[in-house]
Amino acid sequence: MTAVVDRLRTDRPVFSVEFFPPRDDASERQLWRAVRELEPLDPAFVSITYGAGGSSRDRTIRTTGRIAQETTLVPMAHLTGVNHSLAELRNVVGWYAAVGVHNVLAVRGDPPGDPLGEWVAHPEGITYASELVRLVRSLGPFCVGVAAFPYGHPRSGDLDTDTDHLVGKIRAGADFAIAQLFFEADDFLRLRDRLASRGCDAPLLPGVMPLTTVRTLDKTVELSGAGVPPSLERRLAPHRDDPKAFRAAGIDVVTELSERLLAEGVRGLHFYTLNRSTATREVIGRLGLAPTRV
Ligand code: FAD
Repeated sequence: MTAVVDRLRTDRPVFSVEFFPPRDDASERQLWRAVRELEPLDPAFVSITYGAGGSSRDRTIRTTGRIAQETTLVPMAHLTGVNHSLAELRNVVGWYAAVGVHNVLAVRGDPPGDPLGEWVAHPEGITYASELVRLVRSLGPFCVGVAAFPYGHPRSGDLDTDTDHLVGKIRAGADFAIAQLFFEADDFLRLRDRLASRGCDAPLLPGVMPLTTVRTLDKTVELSGAGVPPSLERRLAPHRDDPKAFRAAGIDVVTELSERLLAEGVRGLHFYTLNRSTATREVIGRLGLAPTRV
């Protein structure tokens, strides 16, 4: 098995990509087109998300298993604790191992339907992601990642407490963390500094979404929990009614953000692809992260 952390131990920066499990035959074809188009660019790993409450459990298992068995890529399966007993969580981790998946992103998840609704733990389940990290670790030689939040998790009172909880997940046994979307490099770098100030040097990967449409910008606002900064608004707002110009400006913005992060020494960039490859390949190409033989 290849562990994600081993793929991050290189002398040059790498990139990874995130997909969601396909809902039907058409989206399965789209996903596999993207997988095959990205495969020659040698991403460090490919991650597949897990639906709220296990709604996509079988599709996540099937897709990561196919990636393990039918491609040269290193798969990582997400796992959430929502609505699952410990026995069910053990079962899912067992299935991951059975299909050849040994990298797991352990996240707590949100209440289905309302991410900010009251969190009610399953009576025989977990309350925090750190417990999921310990559980996955106890079940075999898994490489485990966790979620990090540059602006703090929406339920956290303040950034210091939020960072303490992130450090708690890493000390529980996580090997690395992936940061939620953010707008400016400094927002991510401050999180990295907070971790370093607590003596934590686990790899922290920035999450990057190619801003190809107004919808991807809105999605970034929703997921990050932050508003669009004025400097970015000035660059993108004039193109809101011109999809081609918006895409060109958005790709420029994301390339510049990525360049700054690489200049600051990040080990890898984690791209949210929305199951398409064109924009990610464009940014990777501009950054010179693709192998030269391609
Ligand atoms: P936790 O780390 O448990 O944190 C939840 C809240 O509790 C935070 O406010 C935290 O500060 C606080 N907290 C943590 N530990 C303690 C403690 N010991 N005591 C008191 N408070 C504590 N969701 C999905 O449904 N499927 C996915 O596939 C998925 N993938 C994701 C990938 C990434 C990279 C990211 C950033 C998020 C992902 N999410 C996914 C979303 C995630 O499930 C939500 O953001 C969720 O609200 C928090 O998950 P967590 O693992 O950070 O939880």
